[in-house]
Amino acid sequence: MAETKYIFVTGGVSSSLGKGIIAASLAKLLQARGYKVTIQKLDPYINVDPGTLNPYEHGECYVTEDGAETDLDLGHYERFLNVNTSQANNVTTGRIYQSVIEKERRGEFLGKTVQVVPHITNEIKERIQLLGKNHEYDIVITEIGGTVGDIESLPYIEAVRQLKWELGDDNALVIHLTLVPYLSAAGELKTKPTQHSVKTLMESGIRADILVCRTEHELSDDIRRKLALFCNVKQEAVIQSIDASTIYDVPNMMLEEGLDTVTLQKLKLSQETPPNLDQWNQFLKRHKNPTCEVSIGLIGKYVELQDSYKSILESFIHAGAANEVKVNIESIHSEFINDSTIKNKISHLDGILVAPGFGERGIEGKVDAVRYAREHNVPFLGICLGMQMAVIEFARNVLHLKDANSTEMDPKTPHPVIDLMEEQKEITHLGGTMRLGSWECKIKEGSIAHQVYGTTKISERHRHRYEYNNKYAAQLDSNGMKSTGTNPKTNLVEIIEIPDHPWFVGVQYHPEYKSTVASPHQLFVAFVKATKKYSQEKKGAILAQ
Ligand code: GLN
Repeated sequence: MAETKYIFVTGGVSSSLGKGIIAASLAKLLQARGYKVTIQKLDPYINVDPGTLNPYEHGECYVTEDGAETDLDLGHYERFLNVNTSQANNVTTGRIYQSVIEKERRGEFLGKTVQVVPHITNEIKERIQLLGKNHEYDIVITEIGGTVGDIESLPYIEAVRQLKWELGDDNALVIHLTLVPYLSAAGELKTKPTQHSVKTLMESGIRADILVCRTEHELSDDIRRKLALFCNVKQEAVIQSIDASTIYDVPNMMLEEGLDTVTLQKLKLSQETPPNLDQWNQFLKRHKNPTCEVSIGLIGKYVELQDSYKSILESFIHAGAANEVKVNIESIHSEFINDSTIKNKISHLDGILVAPGFGERGIEGKVDAVRYAREHNVPFLGICLGMQMAVIEFARNVLHLKDANSTEMDPKTPHPVIDLMEEQKEITHLGGTMRLGSWECKIKEGSIAHQVYGTTKISERHRHRYEYNNKYAAQLDSNGMKSTGTNPKTNLVEIIEIPDHPWFVGVQYHPEYKSTVASPHQLFVAFVKATKKYSQEKKGAILAQ
C-alpha cells in the first residue's frame, strides 16, 4: 500500500491570512482528483480544547460527530470536503502537554528528564501521523496555527522539520502562506515581509516548498520571479491568493494558479485525473445567480464578531443556493431588543433565528424576539439556547407560568421549563462536560420535522448542558407547542414545533455543524424556503392593498 503523504501549511507575516481556507481548498482539489484527503489543525494555545473559550477569542467552537469541541477551521474542512472530522483532527498545546504529563505520572518515561525536545515534539509527531496510520488517507494536510516566529509555535515547527527529514522530500511538503502588502504611497506590492518570514522559517531548518501569497493586487511576473529567487522556490511554486468575494471561489482560484499540480509534482503523485468540480461549480452558479432575496434576523449576543456564528452563516449560504435565494443576514444584538425597539428592529424581517449561547446576558431580548415571531407568524428557527428560549416564551405567555425560565439563568425559577439532568448536577468542571456530539433522535410522523428530513430517524450534533423539562411536556403539548423529536434512549426532547404557526421549529441540537456544500442541511433549506414564501406573500399583500 502506498505511503501516506503529508502536507504542512504554515503562516507568516500576519495572522488571519486564511490558512484554513487554503488548506481546505487544496484538499478539495486533491479530493476532486480522486485522492482521499483529511485535514488537521494544530493550535499552539494552552487550552486543552476551545470548548472553554469565549467566542470573542477565536470565534465559534465547532463540534464533530465524536463530540470533540474544536477550532472553527474544522467546520471549513467538513463544509468543503463533505467528510467528517474527529478529535484527532484538532490538537492544542494544552492537549499535547496534558498527555505528556499523564505519561510522566504513569512512569512511562522510565526516569528520564521530560523535555520539550524530544518529548513534546515526539507527541506532536505522533498526533500528526495518527491520521495516516491506517492508510485511510492518501494525503494528510496539517495546518499549523499561529505565525512562524511566535515562541509558542516553535515545538510544532521543530516537529515538522524532523518529520520532513524522516519522511523525505517525496512524502512531505511545506506550504508557507504569507502576505504581500500593497503600499499605496509607493504604488507597489512589497515582497520584503515574505522574504523575512521565509528566512525565519529557514532559521528553524525548514525550507518552504510552495509559497502562497495573499495579496490585494495581481502579482506580476517580475514580483513572482523576485519572490522565487529570494525565497528559494521554483517560480511555478509561487501561488497568488488574491482576495475573493466568497471563500467558495478559492478552490477554483487555486486550480487556476496550479497549486494542486505543483503539490502533486513535488509529492510524486499522479496528475492524470483532472479534478472533477462539477457539483461544486453547480453550487457556485446557484449561489451567484439568486432569483430573489430574503432578510433573516440572527438574534444573538456575540454578533459583533462574525466568526462566532460561522457555521450558521455558512449553512445559510448552502441553503440559499439550494433555494436560489440570496439570504441577507441581519445580526441583531439581543441585549438591544425590548418592547420599545422590537418593531423597529425585527418587523421587516422574513425570518427569525434565535442563536445558541450561554449565560443570562441578552436572554430577555431573545424571548421577546420569539414572541414576535410566534404572534406575527414570522418563520422561526431556534437553535439550542434559541429552542430553550422558545419553550420559555411559550410557558410564560401561553401557559401563563409567570417567571418560567431555565435554571441556567434563574436557579430559583418557580417554573424550570429548562433544567439540568440529574447526572449533570454533580459536575463541577466546565471543560468537556456538556452533552456533546452525535445523538439519535426519533421524529414523529406528520410533523414539520418529518417533512423536512423525510425520515423518522436522524442523528444530530449537540453541545449543551440544559434540557427541555419533560414535567411540562403534557402542558406545552396540549396548548400547541408539540415535541416532535425525542432521544429514543433517554426520552429527552430534541425538537419542538407549533403546528398552528406557518413555520416554527426549535431544535436542541446544532444542525449548522452538519451543513456542507455537497449536502446543505435540510432544516436550513426548509427554513429559507419558508422565509421565501413569507416574503412573497408579504409582497403580494402589499400589492393587493
Ligand atoms: N446554555 C444552554 C445550555 O447549556 C444552551 C447551549 C447552546 O446554545 N449551545 O444548555
